[in-house]
Amino acid sequence: MTYTANTFVAKVDRRNPDHQVLALAGEILREGGLVAFPTETVYGLGANALDADAVARIFAAKERPANDPVIVHIHALEQLEQIAIEIPVLAYQLAEKFWAGALTLVLKKSDAIPLNVTAGRNTVAVRMPAHPVALAMLAKAGVPVGAPSANRFSRPSPTTAAHVYGDLNGRVDVIIDGGNSDIGVESTILDLTTPVPTVLRPGGVSLEELRAIVPALAFRPQYLPADVESAPAPGSLIKHYSPNAELLLFRGKPDVVITAMRKTADQYITEGKTVGILAPDADVLNFEGLNIQIALLGRTVAEYAARLFAGIRALDDMPSDIILVREPDDDGLGVALRDRLLRAAEGKVVEVPEHAPETL
Ligand code: AMP
Ligand code: MG
Repeated sequence: MTYTANTFVAKVDRRNPDHQVLALAGEILREGGLVAFPTETVYGLGANALDADAVARIFAAKERPANDPVIVHIHALEQLEQIAIEIPVLAYQLAEKFWAGALTLVLKKSDAIPLNVTAGRNTVAVRMPAHPVALAMLAKAGVPVGAPSANRFSRPSPTTAAHVYGDLNGRVDVIIDGGNSDIGVESTILDLTTPVPTVLRPGGVSLEELRAIVPALAFRPQYLPADVESAPAPGSLIKHYSPNAELLLFRGKPDVVITAMRKTADQYITEGKTVGILAPDADVLNFEGLNIQIALLGRTVAEYAARLFAGIRALDDMPSDIILVREPDDDGLGVALRDRLLRAAEGKVVEVPEHAPETL
């Protein structure tokens, strides 16, 4: 079963979005249709979160397994009480600091939220996105909007309307093109229903930022094999965000890692394979002279995040047989980047020892 539609792409100016387009999108959502829309993290594929049939269309369009719940998006704090019950004070403190923004809170669900939104759980994930187009569209819709990322299941997340079109043309009623997603990785998911607040997925809000408000924060991302029956923390499958190419993630000191990447690239090229490298700008000169394709990840960790999924898609489309990438630092946004790269690599990490043997 899939969902079919005549996809209409509407380009809007994010500073001054066309209210007719947003009103139409709101109406389509209320009537049970699917609307892809920009957020500051990645593009979302939205449906009325109060309508189980509409939510079922998201799963059909994405070919997403029913055991992977979706995040509910709101534009105003007042909507929270429609979605969740027994909301702790901490939720409001976090909302005050981080909403609108890249933090998703997991709370006890209300009866208004159908069970396919939460994949049968009694908890619901909620976020208020910061993108002006998303906020304006949610206000026009009036209903809370369930929205996972607007990609086909297990493909790299979409950070442009073109990515959404490539994956979902013919399966979504409207794609609102509001430009590139600024952050480029998904929201941080924080579970407030556990005895200790627990980060289930690192994302756009860093662990350091959260610890300023929740000092006793637990961090428990899950990496499960792709064939697991029911994913306890959804989105936790190790195969996620996958390119068609094989992606190899290199871990170790930057200089030995770069040497190892050059050698690996050389070997594959000798075998007649096409090699792509994802690299921060500062690394590029190290790969000079190799017959490879490079996707540039910029000069800062924020640029890296904003370009990551687009870079993976670009190398994949060229196409590349193999994509090599060096693991970024483990702080700030880097924690989320490592998580996404590990999943894109399906868990395959090349550990490079400090004194790499010559024969590597
Ligand atoms: P996305 O992966 O961007 O499509 O967003 C959906 C993700 O939100 C899921 O894969 C989960 O990781 C997370 N999520 C949604 N609802 C819940 C929930 N009730 N409990 C825990 N995580 C959730
Ligand atoms: Mg996703």
